[in-house]
Amino acid sequence: MKLLIVEDEIKTGEYLRQGLTEAGFVVDLIHNGLDGYHHAMTESYDLVILDVMLPDLDGWRILKSLRDANKTMPVLFLTARDSVEDRVKGLELGADDYLVKPFAFSELLARVRTIIRRGSTDTQQHILTIADLELDLTRHRVTRSNQRINLTAKEFLLLELLIRHKGEVLPRSLIASQVWDMNFDSDTNVIDVAIRRLRSKIDDNFEDKLIHTVRGMGYMLDLPDSI
Ligand code: CA
Repeated sequence: MKLLIVEDEIKTGEYLRQGLTEAGFVVDLIHNGLDGYHHAMTESYDLVILDVMLPDLDGWRILKSLRDANKTMPVLFLTARDSVEDRVKGLELGADDYLVKPFAFSELLARVRTIIRRGSTDTQQHILTIADLELDLTRHRVTRSNQRINLTAKEFLLLELLIRHKGEVLPRSLIASQVWDMNFDSDTNVIDVAIRRLRSKIDDNFEDKLIHTVRGMGYMLDLPDSI
């Protein structure tokens, strides 16, 4: 089980990392919001522990950006604040739990274990499908007709975005911002190249093509007969 901790207080962060590592977790510790956000976007974690008050990008904005990008990993908020509004805001943005500082490590560990257990029993949510294509978010595995397909991290993200929006046309600019976290207005070729590679892996060996080009608009993942 791999955890990400984003906490700007060095001492608190190290304390959590040490405790959670001793409890058997693999832990990445990041001390600022922006790097924390990039780690959460690009790597696969079973849980993110997110401090709310961070100097550059606060925990709320990180969580909102993650959920906007369809990142569904559980998030546990840590905060010194204890007002009802803050709690509600965190939970509304899609946090799974909330812990107010200062807290006992044993309580944090109990919450972490509960959240992870809750997540792992709900496997349906971690497997996205269309036709005979299956994408397993937890194990980072893609199969089509039960054949394993190896994707790069970017290809996986791209396919995840397409499958979450199956039947919808996704403009290149949206794909660029969601998968590359950048604005590719000047170079949409990057998207086309990535789609071509993904297509060769997902569609080339199969009769039913799932990735469709919608001329002048973008790309869409859909069943062949609904086009
Ligand atoms: Ca802080």
